[in-house]
Amino acid sequence: MIVVLGGGFAGLSALSQFPSAVVLDRKEYFTLTPWIIDYACGSVGEDYVIRRYNAVKINWVKPDFKDKVILTDKGKFNYDKLLICLGHRQNLPRVKGAKDYALKIETFEDAKKIREEVTKVKDVVVIGGGATGVELAGNLKLNRGVNVTLVQRRNRLLPTMTTSSSEKAKKVLEEVGVNVMLETEAQEVKARSVVTNRGEVPSELTIFAGGLKGPEIIDEFGHSNKNHRMIVDKELRSIDHKDVYGAGDCATFEDGEVPMSADVAINMGKTAMKNALGDSVKFEPKRIATILRIGSEYFGDLGDSYVEGDLAKLLKGLAYVHSRTLIAPTILV
Ligand SMILES: Cc1cc2nc3c(=O)[nH]c(=O)nc-3n(C[C@H](O)[C@H](O)[C@H](O)COP(=O)(O)OP(=O)(O)OC[C@H]3O[C@@H](n4cnc5c(N)ncnc54)[C@H](O)[C@@H]3O)c2cc1C
Repeated sequence: MIVVLGGGFAGLSALSQFPSAVVLDRKEYFTLTPWIIDYACGSVGEDYVIRRYNAVKINWVKPDFKDKVILTDKGKFNYDKLLICLGHRQNLPRVKGAKDYALKIETFEDAKKIREEVTKVKDVVVIGGGATGVELAGNLKLNRGVNVTLVQRRNRLLPTMTTSSSEKAKKVLEEVGVNVMLETEAQEVKARSVVTNRGEVPSELTIFAGGLKGPEIIDEFGHSNKNHRMIVDKELRSIDHKDVYGAGDCATFEDGEVPMSADVAINMGKTAMKNALGDSVKFEPKRIATILRIGSEYFGDLGDSYVEGDLAKLLKGLAYVHSRTLIAPTILV
């Protein structure tokens, strides 16, 4: 029996290599996470971003690695091989007050909450100028007509992407009317403002998109890095437990961070399952494309090159179609 813990991008890609594996997840649906921003901003409906399937829905999980059994509220699952694919969490504790006063954008429920709350406010602050913060700030401004300030600690937006993408993001955001504050550190989130090193910014709704980490539960499973990501070897095996593999955002190498992205998680899930089935494939993390959409503007990076317009739109569309087909029709409910 092969058990996959977590049915997201990595878990479902693993399942595509071995459809008789059992998937355990806290949700009964797969979330197309890269598109929950569109849902939060009101431009698409629920069916666009979640797909129900027949995972075993569990509320808690406790693996016993010695006896090779997963204990859950839905009973025990013995495994010959176990794949851990539990995704990421927003790192809210990084900023004082964020846990109490900021919303995060991590799950479908988070997006739902933003979609509701944004209708009640005028001033919104988004913390974090990575891809999530940029897309969210621009589309909230465009679709919801609220005042949006984007607070970014670094001296450019999209700091892990090409400078062309950074410049384009700033230009588009400013054109649509977002107040972009670079080299601005959010120091504390309060009930109605965000305190920064450049003064206090009024905020009735603060959304944190300032950094990702692995889920804390990973620390209970064995070695993890300071970012709560499970340490795996190059063949994605746990360094602690025999017959256990890690894939997706919750897993990384000891000597270098594996990027947290859907395309990497897809390849990681497939490789982990192949190796669980007996292969010895080394995983090489490689981002294919990161494309952003703000209104009708599409732009981003394809490998190391900047792209925009029709090509960028096509790439984003292809990624969506591919993500939707991760759940094989046979297991849809
Ligand atoms: C707002 C946003 C926008 C993004 N945009 C992009 C983008 O444009 N392009 C891109 O490549 N990437 C994007 N990403 C990142 C991408 O979504 C992730 O890298 C990808 O989802 C990782 O896949 P995964 O399988 O590791 O985790 P996930 O897809 O998150 O799957 C994890 C699964 O584990 C389940 N789970 C978690 N904890 C438990 C538990 N304790 N018990 C049981 N089940 C559990 C979850 O319910 C989920 O189904 C974005 C992320 C966010 C939040």
